Amino acid sequence: MKRISETQPNPKALPSGEALRSIARTEPLGLYIHLPFCIDRCTYCSFTTTCDHTLLPAVLTRLGLDMTRWGQSLDRPQVDTLYLGGGTPSILPLGELSALQSRIRTCFDLGPLQEATIEANPGTVELAWMQGTRRMGWDRISLGVQTLDDKLLARLGRIHDAREGLAALKMACDAGFERISADLMIGIPGQDLARVISDARAIAKAGANHLSIYMLDLDKACPMKTEVEQGILQLPSDEEVAESFEVLQEELPNLGFLAYEISNYAQRGHESIHNTRYWERRPYLGLGPSAASHLEPWRWTESADIQAWSASAGMREVQWLEPSECLAEIPLLGLRMLRGIDWDGLRAHAETLGLLKTVSGWEDDLAPFLQHGLLVREGPILRFSRKGLLLSNQVLQIFV
Ligand code: SF4
Repeated sequence: MKRISETQPNPKALPSGEALRSIARTEPLGLYIHLPFCIDRCTYCSFTTTCDHTLLPAVLTRLGLDMTRWGQSLDRPQVDTLYLGGGTPSILPLGELSALQSRIRTCFDLGPLQEATIEANPGTVELAWMQGTRRMGWDRISLGVQTLDDKLLARLGRIHDAREGLAALKMACDAGFERISADLMIGIPGQDLARVISDARAIAKAGANHLSIYMLDLDKACPMKTEVEQGILQLPSDEEVAESFEVLQEELPNLGFLAYEISNYAQRGHESIHNTRYWERRPYLGLGPSAASHLEPWRWTESADIQAWSASAGMREVQWLEPSECLAEIPLLGLRMLRGIDWDGLRAHAETLGLLKTVSGWEDDLAPFLQHGLLVREGPILRFSRKGLLLSNQVLQIFV
């Protein structure tokens, strides 16, 4: 990856405004806003977030400034998906949320908006807040339920218990959200298979129509990783985690949930439009500390230092993607979708770039996975088989 610059937190550090404007004009953008505040830090968390809420005014001010700058430099671009994530956006009082939303409307053209998602922590929500967000036009809510085992929730350092997780789902239904997503985590120390299945059933029954299945990821430093390294906690074996994943794959269709991405299941018509844009490599603008933006061939990530970012002093990492890198991302991200990718189309595209040899090399590397039935070729389409989903990381390494 070619690193062009690591400079000022100023949109002008990127290529000329006109260069980005012309990319932003090709199709509506996704807008992601990162609100980096939580009530307490979960033991497994390595996200950009803080419990120091005194920083909230400064973060909101910088977010407002960035919206104004981007709105001006991209000529009030069209936005068709909106996502307020974190952190815990549900700590934001309705008044602040309404002000944030007005600024979004002023700076961006929400005419083509198809979806507006807000993340919420079950430990922070009340019916009035949910009703207020729904009235403001947020039409999809994503709840961090994780598990319905109180012992495991305490181990994860979550601020809510199972009862509150289920209550939040019911509240979302009562507030009029028709699109409700819940996170369900697997691979938690002490979690057993029966628990995973009963949780999935209870969450579906409580009203979720989208499920994101996350494997506990302790790659980065966090208190739980230290406990595992010190032998205080023991992670389930890879085989146990794989079994949870497989059993969910069998059970979720019975509950009306179909896999549409490696980790995401939805009842028909409830797939996340915003998240799908990442796998389809459609353009998006990310605002807030650590947020990433992609206007091909440019990609940039805001500083993860919340204080520095708020003071407009953090470093922004800007990357210019080579044509070969853009090409590799098509299968790397696109194969995550269960529907797969048009491999013949990819070949034709590579030919126009003079990169056909690269694709032929990938085909050699993919051949054993096709032979073993982890990948399936149907006409022009290449996709993972159900068995292949479990080993998708091995296959996707080919494109890294
Ligand atoms: S709620 Fe989410 S962002 Fe906040 S500490 Fe927990 S895992 Fe991290």
